[in-house]
Amino acid sequence: MRFSQLRSAFLLPALAGAVAVVPLLWFGLQGLLEQSAVSHLARAVQPISRVLADRVEDPPERLQAFVRGLSGLGGLRVTVIAPDGKVLADSERTWAQVEAMDNHGTRPEILDALDGGKGSAVRRSATLRENFVYVAQQMSTRDGGFVVLRVSEPMAELAALRGRMARILALSLLAAVLAAGLVSLWLDHKLWRPLEDLVTGANRMALGELGYRNPVPDLDELAALARSLNRLGERVQEQMAAAEAERSHLQTVGASMSEGVLVTDREGRALMANPSFRKLLRLRGEVAGKTPLEATRSPRLDELVRETIASGTSHEVELEAPSGKPVAVSITPLTDRSGVVVAVRDISELTALAEIRRDLVANVSHELKTPLAAIRGYAETLHDGALDDAEASKRFVHRILEQCRRLQALLEDLLTLSRLERRDEESERVPTDLGEVLNRAAEVMEPIARERQVALQLDLAPVPRFEADAEGLEKLCLNLLDNAVKYNRPGGEVRVRLRRRGGEAVLEVEDSGRGIPEAALPRLFERFYRVDRGRSRDEGGTGLGLAIVKHAAQRHGGSVEVVSKLGEGSTFTVRLPLE
Ligand code: ADP
Repeated sequence: MRFSQLRSAFLLPALAGAVAVVPLLWFGLQGLLEQSAVSHLARAVQPISRVLADRVEDPPERLQAFVRGLSGLGGLRVTVIAPDGKVLADSERTWAQVEAMDNHGTRPEILDALDGGKGSAVRRSATLRENFVYVAQQMSTRDGGFVVLRVSEPMAELAALRGRMARILALSLLAAVLAAGLVSLWLDHKLWRPLEDLVTGANRMALGELGYRNPVPDLDELAALARSLNRLGERVQEQMAAAEAERSHLQTVGASMSEGVLVTDREGRALMANPSFRKLLRLRGEVAGKTPLEATRSPRLDELVRETIASGTSHEVELEAPSGKPVAVSITPLTDRSGVVVAVRDISELTALAEIRRDLVANVSHELKTPLAAIRGYAETLHDGALDDAEASKRFVHRILEQCRRLQALLEDLLTLSRLERRDEESERVPTDLGEVLNRAAEVMEPIARERQVALQLDLAPVPRFEADAEGLEKLCLNLLDNAVKYNRPGGEVRVRLRRRGGEAVLEVEDSGRGIPEAALPRLFERFYRVDRGRSRDEGGTGLGLAIVKHAAQRHGGSVEVVSKLGEGSTFTVRLPLE
């Protein structure tokens, strides 16, 4: 049911009531009026019956003449009727007319009078077109019989009264309708409309318009309802804002995580996935509502999510992501078991590191094996009698010393590398002048270069001092100059340039050596990588020099690159930020 119907539901009975009262009043009042007319007329019957008492036994014609004489008796009509209904006399008729009158025995007032002595009626006279009131009463005759005396009177007032009553009733009806209308309007203004507004307001709020506030109506109860609704709106708005803030925090946290995270519902269908998850598992499009299989196309992951949901216990596995990267996956059920959280971590770096470590151990063992075997060989030969041969002893001891130096160089380079790889040495940084470091390195290299007939040329522009690991930089310069001299040719040259470009110090070491084959360039800075193994060993190289250069440069936030042409020479460029 609608409010509008409720409004008319009130108005209609009010109108119906008013309409029902009108005929009641109409007929009731008319009845009262008629009753009063009858009793008024009944009082006039007694004196007339006394006047007529001595005459009723007169012959009819005389009786008629007498009764006729009564005409004009205060406007009353007097009729005398025999018990058989025949009219004996009538004050309003002539004798001839009386004789022609029809039998009155069937008139209701006559019937009543014949029956019980008295009768009355109000009816409309067909001939006079007017309402008449009739009162009839038996009159005894001396011979023990009776006649009926009927007195009648036109009810002119009744017509007038009816007209007045109709007007009054019409006015009352109008007043009732007006009153009902006014009450309805008042109710409409005070109750229905505010109620309707509240319903509309509640609907708007329910549909998500949380900022909507209901106007507060006058009626206390409705005002309380409106205020409660408004408070409810405020509370919901606050809670929504809090939930939204929490969601955005979670989203920010999720977005900034390097770990991939997928949250599912209790059926295993995805609720959300953070950007890292999407990236690691190469997801495209919307994931919400999808199963892990649909979202990631990984049957194993799908199976694991199902297992976790069924068992309620966590699972940890390593899988291969669609990108081919190894990933560690941990699947944990939410505490209320409303779903699971899948966390995916890229472990390719870890795997690579583990591989590097394994390689390093193998390489170091391999590098140690050769000099140790040589030392042992020479020592055993000496032990087995070569000591007696002074010449051979000298040679073997010299070789042993040489191998020991190699071992020492190898150990030193390894230590330097491990020091450069350590992360907690910020404190060892000191303001360093790269030009000075280069000059010192050149001084160290000068005698060797001269011996190999390699010309060392320095072209060093001033570069401001910067916070640096001085030892690391020294190793960097020494290794570059050493290689440039070592892999050069007699008569060749090495040019060392230092420039400041923007916020960087740029160091170039150019040699006129044999160059490096292009295929070797990508691996050149790896530990123990050598282009020409034999030559490097002969030169006393450890295969770690360029790895140290790379790590030292990276430790200062810088980089190293090489350009080389086979047979012509190489240029190593190191860039170091000055900040
Ligand atoms: P090594 O101790 O063998 O010199 P490095 O790491 O310093 O080890 O160098 C790796 C390899 O790169 C060397 O074995 C050599 O073959 C090549 N190399 C390095 N510098 C040069 C250069 N300036 N010219 C030609 N080849 C070079």
